[in-house]
Amino acid sequence: MAQLIDGKQLSAQVLREVAAEVELLSAEHDVVPTLAVVLVGEDPASQVYVRNKVKRAEEVGMRSIAHRLDAECTQDALNELIGVLNDDSQVHGILVQLPLPSHLNEDDVIAAIDPAKDVDGFHPLNVGALASGRASLVPCTPQGCMIMLRQVHPDLSGKNAVVVGRSNIVGKPMAALLLQENCTVTIAHSRTKNIESVSRNADIVVAAAGRAKLINADWIGPGATVIDVGINAISVDGKRKLMGDVDFESVAPIAGAITPVPGGVGPMTIACLLLNTTRAAKRQLA
Ligand code: NAD
Repeated sequence: MAQLIDGKQLSAQVLREVAAEVELLSAEHDVVPTLAVVLVGEDPASQVYVRNKVKRAEEVGMRSIAHRLDAECTQDALNELIGVLNDDSQVHGILVQLPLPSHLNEDDVIAAIDPAKDVDGFHPLNVGALASGRASLVPCTPQGCMIMLRQVHPDLSGKNAVVVGRSNIVGKPMAALLLQENCTVTIAHSRTKNIESVSRNADIVVAAAGRAKLINADWIGPGATVIDVGINAISVDGKRKLMGDVDFESVAPIAGAITPVPGGVGPMTIACLLLNTTRAAKRQLA
């Protein structure tokens, strides 16, 4: 049976390190790292995510401010708020909860965020920095996956890694980080041919397709490390259940190590957001 990579435990460790940094910043520089979270509209999942981020930030001693805008808010109003937060020296990190209502342009909003405060790492300048191996603010979910992977593989050099999914927020930055650690990286996606055999040859499989239980035993080679990024809300017997992209029951007996859902990548993402906020605050000291 595969070793379980426990995201709850590992994220608690990261959060303890963040809390220590927050204390140091406060004691030595009189700075309380502050995260501004912007939520547009009433999407229930986004509301839960924002609530969790604010709560965790406060638990590690940060300040966190949630800005809630109406679902009908205009692009100008949203960009204006971003401008105010950019100019506020008391705010070190800005996060706009995605997805936005369809009349708003996500790329425009992301581009409006000061790259030094872009704790999601989605600004084009930060994306470029990551691609050229010089990133300071790395997208939170892939960053969390890397911490999990290092638990099993302190040296990732030469490993065959397959990332399933090519989104800007997970798949592509994940591939960039693995490449930086000298993995041989394949990005598989909805048009990949023979995807199961591509995946079966990997030492590491990162599943980020957003398809519940897509990845079963046929996709995984013996002893592979499997990181399940997927969070899919499925209704089972009338109850809402969260499911990963990996069919845990069929994959766990074959894999060498595996992350659960829930309690895997999810908690690591929030921990890395707070790690990024502390980093951003430190860089803004000068
Ligand atoms: P997305 O929809 O933007 O991208 C999905 C990608 O998967 C696409 O590139 C697509 O080509 C690929 N894909 C879709 N169906 C496929 C198939 N059958 N075979 C192979 N590839 C396929 O999604 P995203 O934003 O990258 O998120 C992916 C999943 O990760 C979602 O379930 C999302 O909820 C979850 N997620 C979790 C966290 C976390 O903190 N754990 C953070 C972000 C996203």
